[in-house]
Amino acid sequence: MPRPLSATIHTAALANNLAIARKYAPKSKIWAVVKANAYGHGLARAFPGLRATDGFGLLDLEEAAKLRELGWAGPILLLEGFFRPTDIDVIDRYSLTTAVHCDEQLRMLEMARLSKPINIQLKMNSGMNRLGYTPEKFRAAWERARAVQGVGQITLMTHFSDADGPRGIAHQLEAFERGAEGIAGARSLANSAAVLWHPDAHVDWVRPGIMLYGASPSGVTADIAGTGLKPAMTFQSELIAVQTVDAGSSIGYGSTYTANAPMRVGVVACGYADGYPRVAPEGTPVIVDGVRTKLVGRVSMDMLTVDLTPCPSAGIGSRVELWGANLPIDDVASAAGTVGYELMCAIAQRVPVRAE
Ligand SMILES: *Cc1c(COP(=O)(O)O)cnc(C)c1O
Repeated sequence: MPRPLSATIHTAALANNLAIARKYAPKSKIWAVVKANAYGHGLARAFPGLRATDGFGLLDLEEAAKLRELGWAGPILLLEGFFRPTDIDVIDRYSLTTAVHCDEQLRMLEMARLSKPINIQLKMNSGMNRLGYTPEKFRAAWERARAVQGVGQITLMTHFSDADGPRGIAHQLEAFERGAEGIAGARSLANSAAVLWHPDAHVDWVRPGIMLYGASPSGVTADIAGTGLKPAMTFQSELIAVQTVDAGSSIGYGSTYTANAPMRVGVVACGYADGYPRVAPEGTPVIVDGVRTKLVGRVSMDMLTVDLTPCPSAGIGSRVELWGANLPIDDVASAAGTVGYELMCAIAQRVPVRAE
């Protein structure tokens, strides 16, 4: 028997969340973003829940090939483009759409021998300052791309840095419109935060990721209350031991937590080698036997410890939810100083995952 730790992927929640993305951006086509092995959910496991999308966005050529093997014949977008001339052969073979963000990529396309034209998304750097051409250089890049024999349709793309925060997207929209003015072609701008909170950015294609997995782009659970988004992953385990400690006893490595009264402590089969964040401090929420309680003491490699005071009947074998259907991943992430994105992507290889 494996340890009682596992993750469950909720296919119906993925389908529900995709439908919600459509409800928010009813006039746009959707690139369902499944990079990083579908944000840790597993590409093959996420695919059935997301197959009503218009296209899939990802980074890795192997993941693109895997989607084709799963039977996906529709568009697949390489969000970072390609890195070597040989990548273009794979793009050609699997009929992928690719981002193009720099002259080096254009040069590789100019040199490539293709069996048919490939569609590209020409990326503008409208203020994120990571990938893309500045608004000033965009038209020249577009003209160069248009002149490449092997390039088919050109979509204009940019990415927002602050769609989930107070700065917003107005400055980037303005830069994008300035750089793209008078250039024909579909537009693709919005990540999840812009799908939810900036309808003016929806345009032709949207690119939701995190919302499909039922977490908040801002990392704050309350920000997606009322959207109808549902957690697509539940990370669960069981108590494998219970300790009753006296006042003054400490728990775990470094004795970081000391009981100030007699208490029962549950030991959960889950640690940082499973993808639970080691930095999660005392107080991080955990659900035991359906009751919300908290982490006490340091997270170790294979175990973590929880306060059983609010759940006196819990014992060995009691069900523990680390995050998921009843405990928003963003609540755990924010306690640990991070976002749901990082936690879901970090589920370790040794954790058995199944879809339901
Ligand atoms: C990851 C990514 C997205 C999705 O972002 P979310 O915040 O998860 O919705 C969209 N576009 C690009 C270019 C990305 O890299």
